[in-house]
Amino acid sequence: MNPLRLLDFSWDTVSAGSLFSGVSLPWMSHLTVANLTLGLGLPEQSVLQPAWDYLLQHHQAELRSPLFPVVISVSTYLLLVTLYTLLDLLAPSWPALNSYKLHPDRPVTWDNIWTTLYLTAYNHLVYIFPAAVGQWLWRPPIPLPRDAPTLMSFLLGILGCMVVFDFQFYLWHLLHHRVPWLYRTFHAMHHQYLQPFSLVTQYVSAWELISSGFWTTVDPLLLQCHCLTAWGFMVFTICVSTEDHCGYDFPWSLHRLVPFGLWGGPPKHDAHHRMPGTNFAPFFSHWDWLGGTNMVPTPSKDKYVEEGLKGRKDKGA
Ligand SMILES: [Zn+2]
Ligand SMILES: [Zn+2]
Repeated sequence: MNPLRLLDFSWDTVSAGSLFSGVSLPWMSHLTVANLTLGLGLPEQSVLQPAWDYLLQHHQAELRSPLFPVVISVSTYLLLVTLYTLLDLLAPSWPALNSYKLHPDRPVTWDNIWTTLYLTAYNHLVYIFPAAVGQWLWRPPIPLPRDAPTLMSFLLGILGCMVVFDFQFYLWHLLHHRVPWLYRTFHAMHHQYLQPFSLVTQYVSAWELISSGFWTTVDPLLLQCHCLTAWGFMVFTICVSTEDHCGYDFPWSLHRLVPFGLWGGPPKHDAHHRMPGTNFAPFFSHWDWLGGTNMVPTPSKDKYVEEGLKGRKDKGA
């Protein structure tokens, strides 16, 4: 049975005691009491149900279209890069904003914007758009469940997908740095920018774009998530990857909110672009801790790296 379904079942549908019928353990009664106290133990309507009902009633045809995930992914990405690029253009004449930049002395130029925008448009026109049209032509509209996921299974589903994706991309990323041919052929393009800005997020080869798109699509299916959870994971992944490249360290950034340095965030991914042997994981830090590749950037390390990179061609900002 899918582990997330099991969690959903145990927390939302029945008490823990009835899950293990015939087995009576002291902690189960406490769990049952805790569930009822938290309002999680009865089969109540999900808090997401009204919104899901509204979507089913008014936008069912759009939601069922195989094009829908592509449309939300592309529009989320374009919205975010537009906002960050506006900040990049304002930052040089807005000292308060510029102070949040990881490299306040390196403004993003129009040349940077056009170069990255060109590849983004190329990837979308040549790979993403034809793939979407192919899906639209050959895949039947997906059936939609009547019930919304519970809030708990929605959040746990996104967390589960993140944990799985984090491991998959960590391995992909490590391999594409350790094998010179893979690095040269597929990943070096993304490292042309030593100081990333939002549009660098998808300044990647087609193979990198397809790999991450494949796992983002397949992981919610593997974990048997509700389609709403799958779309939530998709949008969240785009928000995180764009934030990782945005070049800003805002006070509300996730790495400042998640404790114990468990979340990577923009400073660590920025460090990866300058020190490519470090910080391979896309979300969390645990695989980099275990692999000995975790690096928290500090001003002294930055100075050392800047000196080591002297003479290297930096197409970046
Ligand atoms: Zn990057
Ligand atoms: Zn890399």
